[in-house]
Order: sequence, then C-alpha cells, then structure tokens
Amino acid sequence: MNEFEIIDQCFTRKGSANSSTVKVGIGDDGAVLSCDEDKDLVVVTDTLVSGVHFCAASRPADIGYKSLAVNLSDLAAMGADPNWALLNLAMPDAEPKWLEEFADGFFELADRFDVQLVGGDTSVGPLTVTVTAGGWIPNEEAITREGAKPGDLVFVSGTLGDAALGLELGLDDKQIIKWPNLTRIHRPEPRIKLGRELRNFASAAIDLSDGLASDLMHLTSASGGMGAVIYQERIPFSNDACSLRSLDELLSLALSGGDDYELCFTVDPSREKDIALLSDRAGVRITCIGAVSETPGFWLIDLAGKCEQYSEGGYQHQWSVDTQY
Ligand code: ADP
Ligand code: MG
Repeated sequence: MNEFEIIDQCFTRKGSANSSTVKVGIGDDGAVLSCDEDKDLVVVTDTLVSGVHFCAASRPADIGYKSLAVNLSDLAAMGADPNWALLNLAMPDAEPKWLEEFADGFFELADRFDVQLVGGDTSVGPLTVTVTAGGWIPNEEAITREGAKPGDLVFVSGTLGDAALGLELGLDDKQIIKWPNLTRIHRPEPRIKLGRELRNFASAAIDLSDGLASDLMHLTSASGGMGAVIYQERIPFSNDACSLRSLDELLSLALSGGDDYELCFTVDPSREKDIALLSDRAGVRITCIGAVSETPGFWLIDLAGKCEQYSEGGYQHQWSVDTQY
C-alpha cells in the first residue's frame, strides 16, 4: 500500500471534516479549525525519519531546520501566519553536542518567523523528528486545494528540481559554495510571505513536497477531478541546476523529484496582471507554467509543441511485506 491509499482507506471518515468547528479536515496541506469570529487556526504536521527523509550523517542543525521548514511550508500553502510549534523527538542516544546543534538549527528558523516552541515529547527510538505547527488566518481566507477552475492559470514560486539535484549530488561544503541553490535539500525556504499575499488572490494552492506532477494533480483532483496543461519550456530552473544537467534531466527532477517546497497555485486569468507586484512584495520569482484543464491528468507540452500525458508519479512512501526498519 502507498501512503495515499492508507490515508484514504483507513483514516478518512465521513463527517470528519466540515463540521462547524472543523472547516477543512484530512486532504489538504493543513487542517483549518474555527477559533473565534475573526480568525481560524491552521494546524499542520510532518515527520522526518533518519534513512528516509535525511541520512544519518546529515548535520544536526540542518535536520532541526528542515523539520520546522517543511511544516512552515504547509502553513504557507494555506496562507497562514506561523505562530507556534510542538516538537516530538525520538532518538537512539542523547548526545549533547548533536542536540545543541539540532536545537540551533530549529531555533534559527523559528526565530526568523516568530514561531514559539510550546511543547513536544522526547523518547528513545530510531531517529525520528515530528513537528506540529499552528498558524492563524483571518476567517474564511485559508487557501485550500479545492478552488481551482478550468482556465485558471497555474503558477509556481522559485525554481524547481534544485533539491532533488542536490540530493543526487550529495553536496559537500566545497560544492555548496559553487552551487548555493542546490543546498535547498537541507534548508528549504518556506514561502510564508507569498502564502500571505495569496489570500483572496489564489483560487487554490499546494506546496511542492513530492514533485510538481503529483502535487499539482492533488490540487486539480481536489478541485473537482480536473487536470492541468503545463508548458515544458516555462518550468523555471536555477542557473546552478542548468550548469550541471540537461533540460530533459532537469524536467524529470522537477516533475518527479521532491523536496522543493515551493508553492504551486492557481489564479483566475483576470488577476494575472497583479502577479508582478505580488512577486515583488513576496520577494520571490513567480512563473506562469500553464493552465487548469477540464480533462483530468497532467498534460505536458514539449519544446516541439507536442502535448502528451505525463503519468510518472512523484515520491510516495510504499510498504511491502518485506519492508524492515
Ligand atoms: P503534506 O505533504 O501536504 O504534508 P500529505 O501528503 O503528507 O500532506 O498528506 C495528505 C493529507 O492526509 C493531509 O491532509 C494530511 O494531514 C493527511 N494525513 C496524512 N497521514 C495521515 C494520518 N495518518 N492520519 C490522518 N490524516 C493523515
Ligand atoms: Mg503540503
């Protein structure tokens, strides 16, 4: 079974969402809970497991940083302002130096976004870091995956494929100086400012954790079983990535590689003129890569203008009878 089958078959129950207190439940980047008459609470959670999401030799400060960053990215996708976090840490041993560096990385990012660590849990076990984070959004302004309409334009922030390429290259310090973009595998930048700008602007949004193709399909499926037509030539790559790989290789990293943590969002075409201003305010490049289609599926228009369905998925956690951890 893969993670999405498990979530659908075992944990998604009728009526678990959309009650008067739960405005958005399972199935989006975060849950939206009714709080008071002015604002809603957005809650997100994500786990990093040693040997799955990072290798055991990773720098502890990077693990601390990333464990919070991936959660802030989900808050950004919902348009929320981060406020607090809980940290659950399981580890095989408690080395003071490792813990100090881990905490430095965690708080470096927490301090940048005024996130307060309000609790958690610590236990012995295989190295696993789970962060749960909360953020606020004015009532009814949370951006979900559900609002895209056929004809809406599809945008992405930043550049894609850098994290997957960084992972492939297993960057050491000397390479980091040469190709700074590729360090995003260790320290993704949560697009909080952009998420804020997208309130009342984007029709739907998602953060890119598993590759553009599968994450965009989560958005268009949630929006009523639609699809998207994407122009290969418009997908933004960094100069660092372009200096190392062919466009075909970069395309597959962007579509099926994970860990970019950029935002992908849809916008009514009448609002396209405001994108440049929004990009200035958020301090990040924004690129229109295509449009939402009524036909389901991820349709890619190649450099010769030929349109074909891209059906390779993104990263998925899989279980089989002989999987041992
Ligand atoms: P994301 O990558 O945005 O964090 P995921 O792909 O991990 O989202 O999860 C998809 C949806 O399923 C999210 O709404 C998430 O909260 C929910 N989900 C994942 N695992 C579980 C679980 N074990 N129980 C309940 N809901 C889950
Ligand atoms: Mg997400």
